Amino acid sequence: MNDLIERAAQDLARAKKVAALTGAGISVESKIPPFRGKGGLWEQIDPMEYAHIDAFRRDPAKVWEVLIKGMKDVIDQARPNAAHLGLARLEELNRLQTIITQNVDGLHQMAGSSDVIEFHGSFAWQRCMQCDERLPTQKVSLDRIPPLCQCGGVYRPECVFFGEMIPPEHLARSQHIASRCEVMLVIGTSATVQPASYIPVLSKQSGAKVIEINPEPTALTGSVSDYLIAGKAGEMTSRIVASLERLI
Ligand code: NAD
Ligand code: ZN
Repeated sequence: MNDLIERAAQDLARAKKVAALTGAGISVESKIPPFRGKGGLWEQIDPMEYAHIDAFRRDPAKVWEVLIKGMKDVIDQARPNAAHLGLARLEELNRLQTIITQNVDGLHQMAGSSDVIEFHGSFAWQRCMQCDERLPTQKVSLDRIPPLCQCGGVYRPECVFFGEMIPPEHLARSQHIASRCEVMLVIGTSATVQPASYIPVLSKQSGAKVIEINPEPTALTGSVSDYLIAGKAGEMTSRIVASLERLI
């Protein structure tokens, strides 16, 4: 383990262009549960029944009640953990320029990272499905479910539901960055949701080192990633940053 931490620090010390791809796992230590895996939400509910845009259109009250209300409670309380702060520190050290995140919780920005591509959108805002009026999620009243805009339209989070497209500008910019970085850090993602899971593949094909931090092996381990640092995002990221600070 110590060897791999040291190896990651050296890879980062040598690199000028570094990007990161993060997933739900990086926010687990901020008490936001992941969707997949142990304790994940999908063990309890079927994603196609609640996280697909057709399900939302069919019965927005049901999706608000079971999925969105709970997410709002959890995300309202969440604060960045050592992994988010470690990535912000890497940016200060000029060893990370862009974070591509699948998360919708805004914790990278709260930690101080300045260039965050929100691949699956953001939970910070709600948008009326009828007139496109936007409202910060923190200001949405839950007295009525689903919450309604003044025009009578239903509010939806500005997240990408299953069945919806990734915003094309986010996809294009992520692909551009992934194919030009020298190191791609992949933290806390099971790499099973397309097209996000293709980002590290692009980096690998373009000659970058792909470093994974995850307590469990993933779809990338042993094929796309050069090595897996098997542990929790917070501790592993802080240890890498500490080693890097000794090196540079
Ligand atoms: P995922 O739920 O598929 O997988 C989570 C991954 O995190 C797993 O590989 C797991 O081993 C790993 N993990 C668990 N604890 C960890 C820890 N302490 N440190 C590091 N890794 C840990 O997540 P996904 O691949 O990101 O895909 C699910 C989709 O749902 C994504 O779009 C994701 O953004 C979204 N989602 C977002 C949030 C959030 O915004 N915080 C929360 C849940 C799901
Ligand atoms: Zn409206």
